[in-house]
Amino acid sequence: MSEFDLIQRYFTRVTPSAILGVGDDAALLQVNAGMELAVSTDMLVSGTHFFPDAEPLLLGHKTLAVNLSDMAAMGATPRWATLSLSLPSIEEAWLEKFSHGFFLLADQYQVELIGGDTTRGPLNLCVTIMGEVPKAKALRRDGAKPDDDIWVSGTLGEAALALAHLQGSIVLPQQVFVAYAAHLHQPQPRVALGLALRGIANSAIDVSDGFLADLGHILDRSKVGAEINYALIPTVCTSEQADAIMQRCVLSGGDDYELCFTSPTEYRAEIEKISATLALPLTRIGKITAGRGCMVCGTDGGVMQIKDKGYDHFA
Ligand code: ADP
Ligand code: MG
Repeated sequence: MSEFDLIQRYFTRVTPSAILGVGDDAALLQVNAGMELAVSTDMLVSGTHFFPDAEPLLLGHKTLAVNLSDMAAMGATPRWATLSLSLPSIEEAWLEKFSHGFFLLADQYQVELIGGDTTRGPLNLCVTIMGEVPKAKALRRDGAKPDDDIWVSGTLGEAALALAHLQGSIVLPQQVFVAYAAHLHQPQPRVALGLALRGIANSAIDVSDGFLADLGHILDRSKVGAEINYALIPTVCTSEQADAIMQRCVLSGGDDYELCFTSPTEYRAEIEKISATLALPLTRIGKITAGRGCMVCGTDGGVMQIKDKGYDHFA
């Protein structure tokens, strides 16, 4: 099979919302009037972001999901994506499953694949996603204000705990592992939440590299500090697991793909309503302060000392 047969068979679909999709030197796109284009790229590298023998259906899902999560964090409606693949060889069974996982999620969000690049090399998956957000309505990292509430969606830590189990640093009961592994392999991007938070959140970020690291990006960009109450952070972990590893997974583990956002206190009722409508827990875990840095209060009332803040490829 040639490179062009591969593209044609696995990655060419009709793209009604593009002027021109796969097949030319470039795609042609038109954003709707009054909208800004939000663009983001996320790359998944074999051995760094996933195990080389990862299930291809789930990998197809995750490759797009991590990019949709960035659209969610901007409050943007995802619309188009490009997919750049580096593959060691053409494995048709693998491509069939990978593209199926990718398009199942793409169809769910009506995202159209409008181009990409395909080369031979170490397994590497890179998506660029494009979305739309009304002018000046994007949820940026630089808008947090002192006294804003800090909120987080869903629960934190499961993906990192599942990874710790796979790496052998903890042993989870089999059923618990299966439940946590779903967070690791099949994250659900919080796109609907991002859209609902337009005009309500002052700032937002998706939690991909660890909660404290990602909240830290909001704090840096907004030039503010934060106080977090550890006991309020939503997790599904039981108290028997309340040890150092669990705390590290919750505060600094990666791959949660939940949204962390800040909002003025007058929006609390509105945010509770959004939570009910979306059937998604939204939890207030602390507040923005005028100082700098992030203070985490532990269950004993003292300030927690945290060394490992999150994942950094070059640290
Ligand atoms: P060029 O030589 O101009 O870079 P390519 O031969 O790389 O073009 O790609 C041909 C067409 O197929 C282009 O429209 C490109 O966007 C698309 N394409 C290539 N790889 C992929 C892929 N993995 N998924 C979707 N479209 C792809
Ligand atoms: Mg090319």
